[in-house]
Amino acid sequence: MYPKIKRRPTRKVWVGNVSVGGDSPIRVQSMTNTSTTDLSATLSQIQKLVEAGCEIVRVAIPDEKAVNALKDVVKESPIPVIADLHFATSLGEKAVKAGCAGIRINPGTFKNKANLERLLKVCKDYNCCVRIGINAGSLEPEILKKYKTPSYRAMVESALRWVEYVVEKIDYYNLKVSLKSSNWWETVKAYLAFSKKSDFPLHVGVTEAGGLIPGTIKNTMAISYLLLKGIGDTLRVSLTGDPTEEVYVAYEILRNLGLRALHPEIIACPTCGRCEIDLSSLYQKVETWAKKVKADIKLAVMGCVVNGPGEAKMADVGIAGGKGVGVIFREGKIVKKVPEKTLLDEFFKEVEAFLQAHPERVINPRQ
Ligand code: SF4
Repeated sequence: MYPKIKRRPTRKVWVGNVSVGGDSPIRVQSMTNTSTTDLSATLSQIQKLVEAGCEIVRVAIPDEKAVNALKDVVKESPIPVIADLHFATSLGEKAVKAGCAGIRINPGTFKNKANLERLLKVCKDYNCCVRIGINAGSLEPEILKKYKTPSYRAMVESALRWVEYVVEKIDYYNLKVSLKSSNWWETVKAYLAFSKKSDFPLHVGVTEAGGLIPGTIKNTMAISYLLLKGIGDTLRVSLTGDPTEEVYVAYEILRNLGLRALHPEIIACPTCGRCEIDLSSLYQKVETWAKKVKADIKLAVMGCVVNGPGEAKMADVGIAGGKGVGVIFREGKIVKKVPEKTLLDEFFKEVEAFLQAHPERVINPRQ
């Protein structure tokens, strides 16, 4: 049913109370696009992300105002908060002291090494997880000079240098690493090469991937390739738009690789001229509902008798459409035939009944 994947052994690190790497599930994370100074907008977005299944959230800390507001975000957030920092190490120290569970630093944007060293020591004092986030667009000048272009080799050398620096100079190990480029294949090559040389957990994803459709494709190419090779301990699907979509896409990738499920899987036909019910709107309603449900179940929403009964029988609960009617299947058997106008309500009743009969299929996302 699914490919056999042997996950690469990595160290286990902690982002607050969420483990990453080792035998932990592959963690799904995202990033808010609000300002931390707008506490209610930030917390409301975090809540939506949590409902979608996000386990770790990152917030941008561009200035003093943002870092001053961080304490309240951290206090109220139900999941660990990571501060995203560039350029100013002083903001990093304040973020760590405000209680954030992790920081993401892009070493290429920090010019003053002494300040960076001080920040890393503060992280160690507070056991704040550090992600060394290498980005092809902002490599250190000496690396760029050596490699001429921001190639995957340049990213790997930069990441290895920084890991060695934190481990040897700071004696700190609560670390994870990312090596991102906007080119998915360059990103893959960077992770493949780095993973041969280090066992620190890897945060995988493609940076600046674009909107929902192109971004999903680019991320899926890179993330799936890496996960199939056993590489990846936490992932962020970077998309331009509503960050909750990042979380749904992340779980779709994980489920299709047989690595992790959170929301119901929906089998649905594309519809064609044979379809005699409004399957598109039915599907949309089932998908919207399924995004709020945390259960490892398979549903089928099919248009007609060609493939409908076959798929509906193989699902836990399924619909096969007819002329203005739908036949509902549960666990392989027909349970009722209902008119189109009551089809959705009856379908949801059967799904609820299935979940009551199979409570083991309901998922607690914080396992
Ligand atoms: S199941 Fe029926 S309606 Fe759906 S695509 Fe196949 S033939 Fe068309």
